[in-house]
Amino acid sequence: MQGAFAEHEKVLRQLGVETMQVRTREQLAEVDGLIIPGGESTTIGKLLMAFELDELLIARARQGMPVWGTCAGMILMAKRIEGYPEQFRLGLMDMTAVRNAFGRQVDSFEVELPVIGLDDQPFTAVFIRAPYLKDAGAGVQILAEYEGKAVLARQGNCLATAFHPELTADRRLHEYFCGIVNRSKE
Ligand code: GLN
Repeated sequence: MQGAFAEHEKVLRQLGVETMQVRTREQLAEVDGLIIPGGESTTIGKLLMAFELDELLIARARQGMPVWGTCAGMILMAKRIEGYPEQFRLGLMDMTAVRNAFGRQVDSFEVELPVIGLDDQPFTAVFIRAPYLKDAGAGVQILAEYEGKAVLARQGNCLATAFHPELTADRRLHEYFCGIVNRSKE
């Protein structure tokens, strides 16, 4: 709909994964997994509704289709968005997203982030006006924290990262998500 979808697509193609950009209900019905990119979460939410993708997306995710939200996408995955009670969200993960949460003076930064479930090497994470998540329910696993704030979480077939894994050369989180997709097809 909006944001860094082309960059995600490039990474997936490098990994040999068949991809397509999803803008219609027909396309959404066809895919085995979906990445909601970083961008601007109110805009993406409005477009999801305008293109009538919202209900189908929620239904497919509940039936088990893996969905990965990065940055703005993570905000849309959350059940709750702090300070924005009216903002559209998919509500697929039992957590609260806090928008633009790392302070205005540090709009973007890069850190070496240890991630549970990856090998010992930290993940180079680029944060851009990034959210974090809090008040995660019992079903949500927190897989990485930065400065004590949760920035990577998984709940079943749903994954959320506060940062932009498509902007660095590290492919491990895309591989991790593709693993979830492959297992969901079996
Ligand atoms: N700040 C944006 C939002 O609230 C997210 C930023 C991003 O996706 N890089 O939607």
